[in-house]
Amino acid sequence: MRKKFIAGNWKMYKTTAEAVAFAKAFKRLYADAGADAEAGVCAPFTQLAALKDAFAGSGVKLGAQNVHFEENGAYTGEISAPMLKEIGVDYAIVGHSERREYFAETDETVNKKLHKLYEYNILPILCVGEKLDQRDAGKAETVVKAQVEKDLSGLLPAQIDLLVIAYEPVWAIGTGRTATPEQAQEMCAFIRRTVASLYSAAAADKLRVQYGGSVKPDNAAEILGKADVDGALVGGASLVPEDFIRIVNFSANA
Ligand code: PEP
Repeated sequence: MRKKFIAGNWKMYKTTAEAVAFAKAFKRLYADAGADAEAGVCAPFTQLAALKDAFAGSGVKLGAQNVHFEENGAYTGEISAPMLKEIGVDYAIVGHSERREYFAETDETVNKKLHKLYEYNILPILCVGEKLDQRDAGKAETVVKAQVEKDLSGLLPAQIDLLVIAYEPVWAIGTGRTATPEQAQEMCAFIRRTVASLYSAAAADKLRVQYGGSVKPDNAAEILGKADVDGALVGGASLVPEDFIRIVNFSANA
């Protein structure tokens, strides 16, 4: 049985003081909530060490939002997997559409990053998803399948067991426009079938597939109620503890 995983993506928001204040408040809410799902926060690099301390003992997972694919080197401004490991992060987002769009992330670099993260036992949250024109042209599945195939290239079955894939239709991110629960279910199930054909039904059964794109407290229960939606990657609604806990504890809103 896959436990649902709700991860916040804070993007480029919050100072460290604001992040620690969030953690203190969220820890209390998470402890009281009898939470339906595992919760995690993917924060800017500068906040990670302070958040590691602030979330200690809470069970809230800590994630980065990116990583470089090399171990070290002359890559000004970049952060490596061993640097993240030293802080004790659990997860790292890879291939978010904003990085694909604004920072020239490609399936090739995404693939290299996944391999490097596994070397350091940091679990990837791999983002895939189609743009609006691709969906309108009936190409959503073709686009997502190609991303999954290229991004996972060379990974071992045991690594797939630990993977999280976030299906994030680009047209639904930060737009207030959400995929319908049926669209989310269809594509999450399609991703699982794709992984089953690349690896095995057993690996696909363990894989957690999140939906991401304007998930809010008021729509979370319906989306997360779908059989193949194993959680959510949440941007805007993860910034306020009282909103985020309502998503983590989604069944209370059903
Ligand atoms: C995201 O950043 O991954 C995301 C899904 O953002 P939002 O929830 O704000 O659409």
